[in-house]
Amino acid sequence: MADTHTVRAFLDDSHHAWAADVQASVDRVLAVRPHAGTDDEARADARELLGLMGADGLYRPIGERDLRACCLTREIVAEASPLADAVWALQGLGVTPLLLAGDGPQRSHWATPALKGELMGGFAVTEPGAGSDVAAMSSRARRDGSDYVLDGHKWYISNAGIADFYVVFASTDPDAGSRGITAFLVPADSEGLVFAGAQVMSAPHPLGELRFEACRVPVAHRIGGEGQGFKVAMATLDQLRPTVGAAACGMATRALREALDHAVGREQFGQPIADFQLVQEKLGRMAMEAIAARLLVYRAAYEKDGGAERITTEAAMAKAYATEAAQSIVDDAVQILGGRGVMADHPVDLLYRSVRALRIYEGTTEIQHLIIAGRMVADAKRASEEADG
Ligand SMILES: Cc1cc2nc3c(=O)[nH]c(=O)nc-3n(C[C@H](O)[C@H](O)[C@H](O)COP(=O)(O)OP(=O)(O)OC[C@H]3O[C@@H](n4cnc5c(N)ncnc54)[C@H](O)[C@@H]3O)c2cc1C
Repeated sequence: MADTHTVRAFLDDSHHAWAADVQASVDRVLAVRPHAGTDDEARADARELLGLMGADGLYRPIGERDLRACCLTREIVAEASPLADAVWALQGLGVTPLLLAGDGPQRSHWATPALKGELMGGFAVTEPGAGSDVAAMSSRARRDGSDYVLDGHKWYISNAGIADFYVVFASTDPDAGSRGITAFLVPADSEGLVFAGAQVMSAPHPLGELRFEACRVPVAHRIGGEGQGFKVAMATLDQLRPTVGAAACGMATRALREALDHAVGREQFGQPIADFQLVQEKLGRMAMEAIAARLLVYRAAYEKDGGAERITTEAAMAKAYATEAAQSIVDDAVQILGGRGVMADHPVDLLYRSVRALRIYEGTTEIQHLIIAGRMVADAKRASEEADG
């Protein structure tokens, strides 16, 4: 259960009620599907989890643009199941560009059913030659009458092969760099869109490659104007990065609980290992870092919900700190569990494999640091120039 008390200063009454609803729903949904084994099972489970969470209304805060409720949802879901969290997160990534820049039909035909769990979305930016450097993408979209023709290769795409539609980013003006990138809504059954195969992760998470081979996309499926795609992608990530931090908090909370339960129950040298000060040092640090992470996450979401147009710095801080802290907390939990912590069927082992990717996707920790420092340095330079007259 999410510790809403610690972050109560950032929440409204409605959020406490929402957290209780989500917990009840997660208990029901995950009682049906605990978590997956093989990649094929993960893909099947992901589709099923999509519908189950949708039927319980869990994607509602994405549509309502209530970022604190989004964070609470991911925190609670991730604490119970990293795969269910990935499914939830991907609905956010697939739908948010449509909410931010889509037109009426795009929202009603695609976003609305996706928010009910009836359609699965995907978000395709990354390419073999363009990871952190998004503007280096080589996918192209050429206007041809009332269509665009897309050619390119995307990889590390979550939900590839199982989504119903993808929000795809391609350049309509290669000479313009990031200003030439445009976003498109591409239905999965579009001619020329090929699922090129799964990329199997160490933790259950449907990931894969897409190829666009003269894939025709009607102009009506362009999201926003030509050249606005980079802005749409960055605004989407701004909103979703705090939720990645929230997922990290959920995983950290689960790991800490497992570690504490084990430390109290496990005896060595004639006493519970929880009584050893070296173990207590770990538990104390884990608890402190988990709370610090949650404060950064909910502070970022609070600013957004309060009307801030962009929360780029706050979101970067929340994502970077929370995901790094969660990695260290989960690692300490494995250590406290001893050999049990690396058994493949133990929840902490699953967390260990799952938490790692959070430091990479939606912008690596290093990129978050560059975002934070880049703004600080620009502000400092401006202030210095103003002072010099
Ligand atoms: C589980 C998972 C799910 C994903 N889902 C999606 C998805 O749905 N859609 C999608 O489009 N993408 C997705 N991605 C891709 C993800 O966004 C990229 O992996 C990420 O942006 C990093 O790109 P890269 O892997 O090419 O690493 P690179 O960009 O090659 O980075 C490698 C290393 O170099 C560092 N580095 C790069 N540039 C700099 C710099 N300027 N300064 C300092 N260090 C630097 C990075 O921090 C990193 O440590 C997913 C990835 C994973 C792991």
